[in-house]
Amino acid sequence: MATTVKLNTGAQMPIVGLGTWKSAPGQVTEAVKAAIAAGYRHIDGAYIYHNETEVGEGVQAMIKDGVVKREDLFIVSKLWCTFHEKSQVRKACEKTLSDLKLDYLDLYLVHWPMGFKAGGEDFPLDSAGETISDNTHFVETWEGMEELVDAGLVKAVGVSNFNKEQIEAILNKPGLKYKPANNQVECHPYLTQEKLINYCHSQGISVTAYSPLGSPDRPWAKPEDPSLLEDPNIKAIAEKHKKTAAQVLIRFQVQRNVIVIPKSITPKRIQENFQVFDFELSEEEMKTILGFNRNWRVCPMQWSTKHKDYPFNAEF
Ligand code: NAP
Repeated sequence: MATTVKLNTGAQMPIVGLGTWKSAPGQVTEAVKAAIAAGYRHIDGAYIYHNETEVGEGVQAMIKDGVVKREDLFIVSKLWCTFHEKSQVRKACEKTLSDLKLDYLDLYLVHWPMGFKAGGEDFPLDSAGETISDNTHFVETWEGMEELVDAGLVKAVGVSNFNKEQIEAILNKPGLKYKPANNQVECHPYLTQEKLINYCHSQGISVTAYSPLGSPDRPWAKPEDPSLLEDPNIKAIAEKHKKTAAQVLIRFQVQRNVIVIPKSITPKRIQENFQVFDFELSEEEMKTILGFNRNWRVCPMQWSTKHKDYPFNAEF
């Protein structure tokens, strides 16, 4: 079983990475160190997680201790929606690099297709509680992303939360210089994303599954929401393999060649989530898990449903 996915740039992206959304600044440095010690080589971050300085401290400590070299690691970050103007893209990337204390990223993603009003809050809201849009189109943002590759600040560029039509808009851009290398989208057995994954793979675009465990620590979780980690059908498959539900959820993605980034700040879970290369789900189990789809989203970005570039009104 391959432990990396080859990108359309030729680079190898480790198929399991550590997520860092909601990881408190006081805890994420140790989580990153525990992950690298456990064998992770891929860390997923973003400006909007407001913990990149502390993520960087974990990375730097492991390089300083000689556990890994920079080139062994695959570091991902994301451009926030208030920096979509082409002139803002480089500044935003440089801020992330300076916080991480790195001189390049392995992959930089446009976090969402929607641009928000620049120069103020991360989530500028109008009186109705809707995010305030800017006038930038993400195709223009993409040109700013391409410039980062040419400037040597990032090795690869990609997108996140883009639907098929939005990816097509980039692919069809006159004078396109670099195709997206990756689309990072929510994906788990309740949102299996078969059509979007097939489309991306057919275009040579790798896919990363976010919230693969159903994001039980998402701030807007309600008690009546479904729980993947507690799903008796997932648990039954796990028991059969003497594995945990989390390991089955992660292995499910690995086996379909989808990169996966479970988040944890708990060393034992960080290790557990990486122990997914010593068992195999049968074809029938993979089919059964795909059958659990119910198009349920952890991250619907409920404040932007009226934005012209809101991605989730389309079928996929
Ligand atoms: P997730 O990885 O599905 O779930 C994280 C939660 O599961 C945490 O509460 C964690 O607890 C718990 N957990 C982790 N391993 C476990 C295990 N083995 N057993 C039981 N519980 C376990 O959720 P996520 O953070 O939403 O998604 C993962 C990553 O994807 C994010 O951190 C972020 O990097 C990325 N992401 C990207 C976007 C985007 O728009 N591009 C959106 C959402 C997420 P502890 O931490 O307390 O151990």
